[in-house]
Amino acid sequence: MPISRRELLKALAAAGALLPTATLAKPRGRAGHVVIIGGGIGGATAAKYLRLAAPAVRITLIEPGNRFLTCLRSNDVMVGHMKLDDITFTYDALRSRYGIEVIHDRCIGFDPKRKTVQLDRGGKLGYDKLIVSPGIDMIHGDVEGYNREVAESVMPHGWKAGAQTLLLKKQLEAVPAGGTWLMVAPPLPYRCPPGPYERASLVAEWFQRHNPTAKVVILDPKDAFTKDVPFRKAWERLYGYNTPNSMIEWIPAAQGGKVLRVDAAAGIVHAQAGAFRADAINYIPPQRAGTLAFRLGLTNRDGWCPVNRRTFESEVVRDVHVIGDASVADAMPKSGYSANSQAKVAAQAVADMLAGRTPGEPAMINVCYSLVSQDYGISIADIFKVVDNRIIKLPASGVSPITDSPAQPLLEAIYQRNWHRTFANDCFA
Ligand SMILES: Cc1cc2nc3c(=O)[nH]c(=O)nc-3n(C[C@H](O)[C@H](O)[C@H](O)COP(=O)(O)OP(=O)(O)OC[C@H]3O[C@@H](n4cnc5c(N)ncnc54)[C@H](O)[C@@H]3O)c2cc1C
Repeated sequence: MPISRRELLKALAAAGALLPTATLAKPRGRAGHVVIIGGGIGGATAAKYLRLAAPAVRITLIEPGNRFLTCLRSNDVMVGHMKLDDITFTYDALRSRYGIEVIHDRCIGFDPKRKTVQLDRGGKLGYDKLIVSPGIDMIHGDVEGYNREVAESVMPHGWKAGAQTLLLKKQLEAVPAGGTWLMVAPPLPYRCPPGPYERASLVAEWFQRHNPTAKVVILDPKDAFTKDVPFRKAWERLYGYNTPNSMIEWIPAAQGGKVLRVDAAAGIVHAQAGAFRADAINYIPPQRAGTLAFRLGLTNRDGWCPVNRRTFESEVVRDVHVIGDASVADAMPKSGYSANSQAKVAAQAVADMLAGRTPGEPAMINVCYSLVSQDYGISIADIFKVVDNRIIKLPASGVSPITDSPAQPLLEAIYQRNWHRTFANDCFA
């Protein structure tokens, strides 16, 4: 059932997403020091919205890079519709407009008793509250023949934007006429559930224009994926899916899509369904919370960070809040939109706790747009609340309807482009 505009606005307001973004004065007194580690989607949003919720608190953001490249729309960079510059954002506004101290360094440990974090280049920082948003890291070595070296040179994942995105682009452009581009999709849970299928779609679109006899093969350890009904309908409409000339072949677990081993030198992936030789291989491995979360001892046995779902305070270490992909967030997908929603909830909770107030009941949102081609978009939108320390989806959720109107997917593609701009501003500007 599609979400009505009224319901969405109500939920956005409850999630704090509609707070005004006025320029704020620098912190006045000592109302506490919050250190935020990781200046990606979650960390940057938390820094900005904490300032809006707690003007007097000192806020320090620790992030090694002096620019952030969003994975959002990195698939467009891979197929040449955008440049890396279009997905690159700076920390200038967080510094100048929101009075946040940004330190470009890596956190390498902390002392939860003394409440200090250790920086790589030396030095410690004291904190009253810590917010950690370290994202994900890849699990290498899950199948024979696939390791870090193979991932960095021969079979890139492109699941962190930057050099890997450009390597994927180069490999795509080198696929010979009639060749095969093969993707190994990851098992759940992973960052951006629709991301692999958007990428495969955009590669098919690229082939249609530049290499029309080439083909996309997806080996999948799953039997279903998010938005799979509108994705497959769009593949039928655009790429001949379910016909002998289909440009996309999706091999789910039930048909032997699970990979057993790879031979990187020969360009062969051995799956349960047999051996697949390809001219370019995009191997997206299983994932876990970012390495920092392990270093700080914030993870559970599954490799993710359990949190109190109302405040995102770690269930393992007090006064540490974990948000974004690294956190255990039940029904919420690991997406930038989720990280942004969670950051707002954690920022408000931290502001409340520092001021001696009890944090309120959060409402959170996720909207994921995917492009099946430049002019064909699909989306899913969900609203979440917390029940018995579990995040659940409300029934008022929406997946793009399948209609006969060409305007419907075209409008969604336009919304996607506009959304990326306004969303990035919400996090970084
Ligand atoms: C191809 C692709 C497309 C996507 N498209 C979308 C989309 O359309 N919509 C959407 O909502 N989501 C999308 N996503 C998902 C989105 O990118 C992630 O869910 C989001 O970035 C998660 O935010 P985060 O803060 O948890 O992690 P990140 O944004 O990855 O931030 C983590 C930060 O932590 C820093 N860090 C790590 N270790 C340390 C340390 N030791 N010290 C200091 N800093 C550290 C890193 O440098 C990084 O900046 C996409 C992902 C992919 C791969």
